[in-house]
Amino acid sequence: MDIARTPSNPDGNPEMADAAVDPKNPPEIRREDYRPFPWIVSETRLDFELGIDCTRVRSTLTISRNAKADRSATIRLNGDGIEATSVTVDGEPTQSWVMDGDDLVLTLPGDAHEIRIETEIDPSANSQLMGLYASNGMLCTQCEAEGFRRITFFPDRPDVLSTYSVRMSGSKDRFPVLLCNGNRVATGEEGDTHWAEWHDPWPKPSYLFALVAGDLVARSDSFTTMGGREVELNVWVREGDLDRTEHAMESLKRSMKWDEEVFGREYDLDLFNIVAVSDFNMGAMENKGLNIFNTKYVLADPETATDGDYDGVEGVIGHEYFHNWSGNRITCRDWFQLSLKEGFTVLRDQLFSADMGSEPVKRIEDVRILRGVQFPEDSGPLAHPIRPDSYREISNFYTATVYNKGAEVIRMMRTMAGEERFRKGTDLYFDRHDGAAATCEDFVSSIEDGAALDLTRFRRWYSQAGTPRVGVTLEHDGETARLTLTQTVPATPGQSEKQPMPIPLKLALFDRASGTHRGEELVILNEDRAEVTFDGFTEKPILSINRTFSAPVTIERDVSREELVFLAEKDDDPFARYEAMQELMTGHLVADVTDDVDDDEREAVCEDIARAMRSVLEDDQLDDLMRGELLMMPGATYVAEQMLVADPGRIHARRETLKTALGTRLAGSLQELYARTENMPFSLDAGAKGARKVKTLALAYIAASDPAKAVELAARQYDRADNMTDRQGALMVLAGLDSAERTGKLLDFYNRYQNNALVIDKWFAIQAGSLHPRAIEHVKALRDHPDFTLKNPNRVRSLYMAFAANPAAFHAEDGEGYAMIADLILELDPINAQTAARFVPPLGRWRRIEEKRAKLMREALERIAAAPKLSRDTFEQVARSLGRG
Ligand SMILES: [Zn+2]
Repeated sequence: MDIARTPSNPDGNPEMADAAVDPKNPPEIRREDYRPFPWIVSETRLDFELGIDCTRVRSTLTISRNAKADRSATIRLNGDGIEATSVTVDGEPTQSWVMDGDDLVLTLPGDAHEIRIETEIDPSANSQLMGLYASNGMLCTQCEAEGFRRITFFPDRPDVLSTYSVRMSGSKDRFPVLLCNGNRVATGEEGDTHWAEWHDPWPKPSYLFALVAGDLVARSDSFTTMGGREVELNVWVREGDLDRTEHAMESLKRSMKWDEEVFGREYDLDLFNIVAVSDFNMGAMENKGLNIFNTKYVLADPETATDGDYDGVEGVIGHEYFHNWSGNRITCRDWFQLSLKEGFTVLRDQLFSADMGSEPVKRIEDVRILRGVQFPEDSGPLAHPIRPDSYREISNFYTATVYNKGAEVIRMMRTMAGEERFRKGTDLYFDRHDGAAATCEDFVSSIEDGAALDLTRFRRWYSQAGTPRVGVTLEHDGETARLTLTQTVPATPGQSEKQPMPIPLKLALFDRASGTHRGEELVILNEDRAEVTFDGFTEKPILSINRTFSAPVTIERDVSREELVFLAEKDDDPFARYEAMQELMTGHLVADVTDDVDDDEREAVCEDIARAMRSVLEDDQLDDLMRGELLMMPGATYVAEQMLVADPGRIHARRETLKTALGTRLAGSLQELYARTENMPFSLDAGAKGARKVKTLALAYIAASDPAKAVELAARQYDRADNMTDRQGALMVLAGLDSAERTGKLLDFYNRYQNNALVIDKWFAIQAGSLHPRAIEHVKALRDHPDFTLKNPNRVRSLYMAFAANPAAFHAEDGEGYAMIADLILELDPINAQTAARFVPPLGRWRRIEEKRAKLMREALERIAAAPKLSRDTFEQVARSLGRG
């Protein structure tokens, strides 16, 4: 970003230029320093002569002064590791430019000019996968957030909107398909080369630019919009992958229809292209009219993709498509506003997936991700508000806080307004800001005006980090129930004092005898403390609170085990029922880890949990997808999060003990469940998906209580499987148990899918994430496997993200797990800094871990910090993790 840097280096002193870059202390960029760019770039023409090792780029910018900005005699064009081979202004070569660090600063005399710059880049040498790079012989781009500056010099900031015309030419053999944003306006050929010209009529920021050239084939289809526009749709992949694209195409068509029906948004070009790329840092990218996807979120068939993968494809296709309005038509003014497009679009994709499948199950899955990833972020050294105030490297702010908490914050507005009024708010937002670069404040004001809500105080959700804790007590006297609510927002780095935030809580009061309630209410906690009374209760009711997870907070309630069992058995809100079940188990695990619960007590609690589970197993009103959620144990990270300082080894051990106890107590019911679901024929409907989900879950409990039986069942499930969900589920269970079947099936899986990179990723992840006692050794061996490479982000994540999330292996007492992640970061950083930096947060949790391990984690971080050369990405994450940010 180019905000508020002093107009440095006016005389072109090269020493000053060098001094501008200090890799050990990258400059902090602050939101309050935002200034509009002094120039308008009305038109951008790009000419690419494509080659794998040398691509020549000629860029022509038509610029004029921005009357709304301070006048400047220069224009700063951002670059990153590129050189200009020629610069002309208004057709004349010029010397009136200097390099300031990586940027090119040009002095301009008049109010309107045409600037022409040539650069040459080597896509094959680009291992960072930002800008233009080569992936398996094809060329593709990734420009968000700051990749465009690796292609050509440009004001690479989201508030500079320009109309793009692109010409691309290259070898017909090597690049038979040439794609860019917008519509194709002309094509032609000369000898061995051919060319295509593209024009995108919608002004866009540079981060939405995209280009693809390669040997690809398409599944094609069409969609007619509500306004009658005929849109050509293509999903582009390598030839062998074509039969795995049907689900992606169907998901795209469903997304287009849904956005018309639910948000009134219609597609605006005649063409929509999706391209699948195997080397990709993120999930996918919403470039205008040309979405580029990680293959993981495009390719699916029953043989190679799990039910979870199918849902992932649908969700990500929806997400990127929805960006066409929430992101592309209205973009962000600066990167501090990232949640404007991401929080809103995540909410849109969550609502879409809920409408396509099971709403309560989708809600629980979303909450599980939020609590498993975002809550720890919010309580650790990397905590930041959904609209951050400063950063050194923007790539580090593509976080669960900006995305998932951002979505929760907008969801709360929707809950308070109701669906209909919320829609008025979003309509107003799209009307007011279409074609512009907007801020989070613009969004909030639109909802406020359109939905008629007062969000004055609610805005604090954008500026305060940390997960609020809501204390809940219910007292009963005579016929009155009195509910007392309190809130505190914990201190976070840089924010010691917090103000109360409006917290919408859906609640219901259950009558103990009848097991029913009088209706759900919405209470908004605006202050530090509030009291609400309810009349007409002769007996103390049972409180069900934060139903549907109406607010992203931690509830601390005074509730008995008996009441939790009641809610786990009877609550009619599926989320609240799930929550009661989780709380029952979490409460026990926390007590067991910290207090040394005695044997009698442990027996009693286990029996209560088992009773609640039995009612879930026997409840024939439940579908299996929901039943699976209710039977799932809380993750070790979530349990650790409930404690000030956690001992991961103890948590893991106690969690396994509980699993064994439940597996033993419920053995009969679990085996019945397994038998009922074992031979269900394959289909993608909810009933069959639910059966597959509870089948493997039952197997996991059986594995804890009767390993020999589990090995037998899992081996049979593996052999008979006609789909990846069953086969992967069986292999996951086998991977954690020592047996001849373990070795045999792992080998079979590898041989069977050797040529399918996405399935081999699963093979790596299953072993790295397994609870096998020698998981560390396995990961070391896999590191040297011929199929492992640091150059492919999916492969790196499949081995090491699974490992970093493995509670037993990563937290090995001698610190070996930490050392392995530190080694990985150091080795990966020069190759792919963005991916390397994403491995820092697991080590950054040291303050919340018991002393002995905390010391080892800190040592691992110190070792990274001491490296002579680190990327800005990794430097920032490590410094903040050590408290030096
Ligand atoms: Zn997005």
